[in-house]
Amino acid sequence: MKMTNSNKKILQIQHLQKKFGNNFVLKDISFDVTQGEILTIIGPSGGGKSTMLRCLNLLEEPYKGIINFHDENILDPSFDRNLYRSKVGMVFQQFNLFNNKNVLQNCMVGQELVLGRSKEEAKRIAIENLKKVGMEPYIEAKPKQLSGGQQQRVAIARAISMNPEILLFDEPTSALDPEMVGEVLNTMNDLAKTGLTMIIVTHEMAFARNISDHVIFMSDGIITEQGQPNEIFNHPQEEKTKKFLRNFK
Ligand code: ADP
Ligand code: MG
Repeated sequence: MKMTNSNKKILQIQHLQKKFGNNFVLKDISFDVTQGEILTIIGPSGGGKSTMLRCLNLLEEPYKGIINFHDENILDPSFDRNLYRSKVGMVFQQFNLFNNKNVLQNCMVGQELVLGRSKEEAKRIAIENLKKVGMEPYIEAKPKQLSGGQQQRVAIARAISMNPEILLFDEPTSALDPEMVGEVLNTMNDLAKTGLTMIIVTHEMAFARNISDHVIFMSDGIITEQGQPNEIFNHPQEEKTKKFLRNFK
């Protein structure tokens, strides 16, 4: 486990609620994220993990609650959402690369359109990050020519090319063939060492135990239990957590 450099809170989520129709998918979610922290979120399917991440980056509009980013509530009408969105990256289960663009273009387009970087600068930064994930030899390839693991590593390079302050991962290895899971998890482990703040939804329990500073177990729209990895994985207190973890033994 890695110690965070500071206790500075980058995100504070307080009493977050989200409903679809009358279905409360997030009932009352509160937690803090400190700068450089690696937070993993585990729990059964349908528990609201994806919805929670999507609320954090405003792909979904919360119903109630507060999301403070550097002590400013992102849900305030006066808050600059576009600026915020550029600071919170996301890596999806299904990669979500642009299939008509090659690897390099995928990693450049956001930098140019959102951050206003020049082509030259965007290219330099893209190549630098593609090197980090071992995908530099493939800059001319189209996503469909790559394996799932390679596509996900490109998606990670694309995300970090935006210099996010926080990177969200929604089951980044769930769509991969088993032999490709390791390369993506290794890439994430490397990234965690750089001090980037990461919030990771995953079903890879050994990985979660190793990489996390803090673990949240979520089910039925609430945080059932949270703590350090040793507490959650070795000494779970709640019956729901125990039952869930038994399935991974
Ligand atoms: P998890 O990621 O933990 O599997 P989700 O956040 O995907 O959970 O889903 C939580 C619940 O919210 C599920 O019951 C799901 O059907 C419901 N849900 C998610 N997105 C929508 C949506 N856009 N409209 C209606 N219901 C949704
Ligand atoms: Mg999900």
